[in-house]
Amino acid sequence: MTDKAIVEERQGEVFTGDKKTSSGKLFYIESYGCQMNFSDSEIVASILGEANYHPTPNLDDADLVLINTCSIREKAEETVRKRLRVFEKSLADKPGSLVGVLGCMAERLKNKLLEEEKLVDLVVGPDAYRDLPTLLADADEGNRGVNVFLSREETYADISPVRLNSSGVTAFISIMRGCDNMCSFCVVPYTRGRERSRDPFSIVAEASDLFERGYREVTLLGQNVDSYSWTREGIPQVSFANLLAMVADIHPLLRIRFSTSHPKDITDQVLHTIARYPNICKYIHLPVQSGSSRVLKLMNRTYDQAWYKNKIDRIYELVPDCAISSDIIAGFCSETEADHEETLNIMRYARYSMSYMFMYSERPGTPAAKKYADDVPLEEKKRRLQGVIALQNELSRQHNRKDVGQSFEILIEGDSKRSKEYFKGRNSQNKMVVFRKIPGFKPGDYTKVTIKDATSATLIGVVADKTVEVAMPQ
Ligand code: SF4
Repeated sequence: MTDKAIVEERQGEVFTGDKKTSSGKLFYIESYGCQMNFSDSEIVASILGEANYHPTPNLDDADLVLINTCSIREKAEETVRKRLRVFEKSLADKPGSLVGVLGCMAERLKNKLLEEEKLVDLVVGPDAYRDLPTLLADADEGNRGVNVFLSREETYADISPVRLNSSGVTAFISIMRGCDNMCSFCVVPYTRGRERSRDPFSIVAEASDLFERGYREVTLLGQNVDSYSWTREGIPQVSFANLLAMVADIHPLLRIRFSTSHPKDITDQVLHTIARYPNICKYIHLPVQSGSSRVLKLMNRTYDQAWYKNKIDRIYELVPDCAISSDIIAGFCSETEADHEETLNIMRYARYSMSYMFMYSERPGTPAAKKYADDVPLEEKKRRLQGVIALQNELSRQHNRKDVGQSFEILIEGDSKRSKEYFKGRNSQNKMVVFRKIPGFKPGDYTKVTIKDATSATLIGVVADKTVEVAMPQ
C-alpha cells in the first residue's frame, strides 16, 4: 500500500471539528501519507480521549501537538521537518506544551529524531500508540520518550476510532497491519512490521456501529488486503473474500470499498464476491508499479507482466463494470526507455480509470538502496513521469467519456467543492460525480444520476430518478 492509493501525497489533514470544551487537555493533530495513517490518527484520538485529551483544530490552543508522518518518499519527510519549524514558532510562548512525532518516519528514525529535533518530546511508532498516555505523563515530568516497538499481534481491534474530519457518510476501517511483501523500494515492512489480520467479528461490529450511526460507506484498509487471513481454534479460516461478504451482509445500503490489493494475491473468490454483492463497489486499486518484467523482478514485486495482464483480464471477465486504478513508479533503478514504454503499454492494456504516479525516490535501508544504483537522471525521471501522467489523463478522460449518457447510483457525500448548489458523491466505480441539488436529499442518501458531461477527473450529471431500489445480493 505504499502506493497511497493510498499514498496520494494527500496534503496534510488537520482535525477541523469543533473544539471540545470539556475539562482535560487539548491536542492538535496533523496527518500525512496514506489512508492507513489517517485511520491511525483516529485510533490515537480514541486512546488520548481515554487520557482526557480532546482534539482541537487550533494549533495555538493545543497542550499537545502531534504529527502523524509518512516516510514513503524523501519529500514526505521534508514536509514533516517544515511543519516542525512552524510548530516551533507558534509554541515558542507555550513552554509547557508537548510535541510528538508519530507514524512511519518516527519508526524509521527512532531515537535519531529526538537527537535531531530538540522540539520533539515523543517519538512513537505505528504499533505503540497504546503507550501514549504513559509517555505523555513522563514527558510532563520532563522525560522525552521513544517507543517504536513493532508488534506481531497489535491490531487495535478493541479500540473504537474517534472519527476526525468525517463527513458522517464514509469511514475507514483498518482490517490488518504491516506487510510481508518485501518490495525492494519500499519502507513499509520496516516501518509497519509483519502482517497481522484483525479479528473479523470486531471489524463487523465496527462497520455495524457505523451503519447505525448513519454512515453509508466503509473502506476496508490494509497494505495488502488480499492476504487478509484470520484463524482461531474451532473457527474456519476467514479469508478476505469471507470478510467482504460478512461486512456486505450487514445491510444492502452499506457500501463496501477496500484498499489496497496486490496482483499476486487477488483471488477469483474475491472477484466472485464483488460480483455477487451490489453493495460491494465495482472498483479495484491494483498497483502495477512497472510494466516491465525485468524491472518488476528488481522491484521484487513477485509477478511479471503476463501475470498482471492475466489478472486484469480476470477482473474484467468476472466484474465487467469494474474500474481499475493503479500506482506507477517512473525511473526505477536501471529503467531503460524500452522498460518505460512497457509501462505505458500496460497502462493502455489495463485502461486505468486513474492512477497515483511517482518518480522513484531511493529510501535508506531498503534492498533497492543497498543493491541498486539510483542511476536514472532526475531530468529523465521527470520526463518519463510526465509521459505517464499525460497518458493517464488521456485514459481517465476516455474512461469518463464512456459514462456520458449512462445513469449511476450515487451516494451523496456533501456539497461540491465549487458550489453549494451542487452535491458531490461517488458511483460504485469510485468516480466523483457532481450534480445540482434536489430538495429533500442530504448527504448519506442515494440517488440515481444521469451523466451529461465528463472531464478526466469528474463526471457531471443530473438527477434521473429520485427513488433508488435497494438491490439484494444475487
Ligand atoms: S512492501 Fe510492497 S506491497 Fe507492501 S506496502 Fe510496500 S509496496 Fe505495498
